[in-house]
Amino acid sequence: MPGGNAGQCEMKIHDDIFYDAVFVHQERLRAERTHAHAHCVINQMMMPKLNLLVRTTPQRWESLESFAYRAVDLNGLRSLSEVARALRWKPGRPLPLQRCQQLMNSLGQGYTQLEPMIPTEISRKEIQLGGHTLKRGHLALSSGRFCPDCVKQYGYGRAYWSLAPLPVCEEHGTYLVDVCACNPDTPLNTARPGYTQCSCGADLRDSPRKRASLAAQGLAQEIVRRYKLLPDDYQDHPLAPVELPPETSLSDLLDLIAFLGSISPEYARMHLDRTRPVMRLSHVAKRFEFAAQALCCWPAGVFPLIRRAYSLLGEVPYSSRTAYRALQPVMNVAERWLAAHVYGWFAQAVAEFIKTPSAWSAHDNRFQAPDCARKK
Ligand SMILES: [Zn+2]
Ligand SMILES: [Zn+2]
Repeated sequence: MPGGNAGQCEMKIHDDIFYDAVFVHQERLRAERTHAHAHCVINQMMMPKLNLLVRTTPQRWESLESFAYRAVDLNGLRSLSEVARALRWKPGRPLPLQRCQQLMNSLGQGYTQLEPMIPTEISRKEIQLGGHTLKRGHLALSSGRFCPDCVKQYGYGRAYWSLAPLPVCEEHGTYLVDVCACNPDTPLNTARPGYTQCSCGADLRDSPRKRASLAAQGLAQEIVRRYKLLPDDYQDHPLAPVELPPETSLSDLLDLIAFLGSISPEYARMHLDRTRPVMRLSHVAKRFEFAAQALCCWPAGVFPLIRRAYSLLGEVPYSSRTAYRALQPVMNVAERWLAAHVYGWFAQAVAEFIKTPSAWSAHDNRFQAPDCARKK
């Protein structure tokens, strides 16, 4: 057969090339395996295995703090620091991204639902929680906050209670608790012996409850709905906040709430609030109520807050020009504080205010609940 020999020869060359390729491929696989193995060993060395006798199953939406305290209880450990040391976790701080991955590796199967609940540091300014990218100031991680009724009912605490501007339990409509009666000025921290036990021995599940206003309950439900990524129609509270611009993220909403709650004639204090967010629930609660009243009846609901902005000046605007001028400092803060589209939306409400002379003065400059006809 003519050319048969040449064909065989070609085949031989192809074979050689093929075997060379296979050899190179196998070498590469071997190198990768060695590398992966080394990586695994290093990871294990970096992350000591957590040998808990009683394995704890994380609950849906559970916080890392609550989970760690349950591990302490179930395993008869003395304090949270024993678990924290094993996890190489500093309570009250977010976990660096790499440490979070190592932690999930060492905990193994059955803990994947915990991963989004761990506050994870993704950059100097940003922390990820529950699949949301939040600013550092949006989280109050250093203090313990919980709803006594939820903990009584379910036996664990939720990750979203550490959202700094949120002081209300969306389910029970009461304010969260962050102090014990033995020391009402100092928020609870992770040195306490149990999740709901103060160092003084008090069971914090028995803390007195305080009811939040209907508007605050509606706003809390909206925040949690967004945190849990539930659809819009899940929200059926009669005083739910108005529809926000569609591109508003959870982070944008938290900024808006903190901003609205901080509107005051003292611009220096507003600036301070922006750079050093207040974490104490007693401070947050008042601000949250202001924001909730404003948001449940937008834009008229925000008019009393806008009035607050010039109340110290002691003079009521007499024309739209003076009204506009009186509000300039607030607009400056808003521009720096809010996401661009939320700023535009807030500016429309301010424009509405300037167009409404009857809104400029009020008999009482304290906050009044708006007469809101809007019902869902
Ligand atoms: Zn609750
Ligand atoms: Zn106490």
